[in-house]
Amino acid sequence: MAQIEVIQGDITRVLVDAIVNAANSSLMGGGGVDGAIHRAAGPSLLEECRKIAAAKRNEAACPTGEAVITGAGNLPVKHIIHTVGPVWHGGGKEEPELLASCYRKSLLLAQEAGLKSIAFPNISTGVYGYPRDKAAAAAVKAVRETLPSAPAVKRVVFVCFDGENYSLYKKLLEG
Ligand code: ADP
Repeated sequence: MAQIEVIQGDITRVLVDAIVNAANSSLMGGGGVDGAIHRAAGPSLLEECRKIAAAKRNEAACPTGEAVITGAGNLPVKHIIHTVGPVWHGGGKEEPELLASCYRKSLLLAQEAGLKSIAFPNISTGVYGYPRDKAAAAAVKAVRETLPSAPAVKRVVFVCFDGENYSLYKKLLEG
């Protein structure tokens, strides 16, 4: 079984095979962790995302709950996995299922690419407004449930930017 860890910090500094980006469905960059990843990766990442978006024509480049994999530009990791978390509307619009799907599909992409380690940010808990405690519980549950289907992945790191998320994940992973 893979090792699951939590750290507090900036995901662009984490050395793993793939870091996950909490993107928006256009894949054209944004604020928060998305902005930080694009700044650190450089313009080749946006170029690659633009090609994925162009191939989708009138559809979303990456619908909510889905994930796509790209190279990592200037970042010292092999890949970036972009996933689109749900906007929190109170919990009745399939937010829990969509958030779980982000973690599951990202892990399955890592498995397909033969990646051994992956780092996740706290998807949807920034401008998308998902309550931190609910998001953390859903994230840990989805990762634990998916790992048996992703045996290539030996290490999962939850990267928390803020102290509140860090405490929540610590508690969940120790329990
Ligand atoms: P979303 O739109 O999915 O809510 P945000 O980027 O606004 O995405 O926030 C998602 C989470 O990423 C938040 O918990 C935010 O604090 C965190 N975050 C922001 N910048 C970074 C970073 N450089 N590394 C890791 N996490 C980050």
